[in-house]
Amino acid sequence: MIRFEDVHKSFGNHEVLKGIDAEVGKGQVVCLIGPSGSGKSTLLRCVNGLETYQKGRITVDTTQVDARASSIHAIRTRVSMVFQRFNLFPNRTALENVMEGPVFVLGEDKREVRERAEGLLARVGLGAKTDAYPASLSGGQQQRVAIARALAMRPQAILFDEPTSALDPEMVGEVLQVMRALAEEHMTMLVVTHEIQFAREVADRVLFLDGGRIVEEGPAREVLHHPRHERTQDFLRRVT
Ligand code: ADP
Ligand code: MG
Repeated sequence: MIRFEDVHKSFGNHEVLKGIDAEVGKGQVVCLIGPSGSGKSTLLRCVNGLETYQKGRITVDTTQVDARASSIHAIRTRVSMVFQRFNLFPNRTALENVMEGPVFVLGEDKREVRERAEGLLARVGLGAKTDAYPASLSGGQQQRVAIARALAMRPQAILFDEPTSALDPEMVGEVLQVMRALAEEHMTMLVVTHEIQFAREVADRVLFLDGGRIVEEGPAREVLHHPRHERTQDFLRRVT
């Protein structure tokens, strides 16, 4: 569903991605782990056109991601992103936040979207919070609204960039639970996370990124239980 071929990305003369080759298959959950500054967010942002890349190729399904507006639009209607800091519209209710994309980006019928949005909020356990404004919701609830909002676009894949790292510890579980349910429904997901336990249980594959290169990759059990590379071993010792 998502394919990276020799992707290079620089900010000025600072090369941040140094030739990334990877794949996220349809219905797969791939966790991307690695130290701070290794290029994880940049890699995700290149997928939905929030950043441009200079060399190589990223394709989503059959669409190549490049800087053309038509490509960016095609990708954004197919790939949703969930950020560390929820990024909800503060002056819109939970329901309005979820309806925003389908109504204003996809131009879908408001009544239909409302019904779907209500269903999605119920699905993330927030059926009683449709009229709440973000400020009155906990961090965990806001992040669940953000996931419902991502789903409202009926994406082919969802990118998660450290979705639980801005949360108080007691709220991490409720967000991971929603993500686990999505995985069980075979949503295609590329997840940057430091939740190694989650990766162990949910990921099909794990990529370890260090210094802009994928140093190690493989089935979650292999990479997380028997990392071959010393840098992977060091990293896992530090985060677990
Ligand atoms: P990670 O998500 O793994 O912590 P990032 O992708 O955020 O890493 O950053 C990778 C590198 O790219 C870091 O050295 C960071 O400082 C740099 N970087 C990220 N975004 C920008 C930007 N907009 N301009 C310049 N440098 C950036
Ligand atoms: Mg990051």
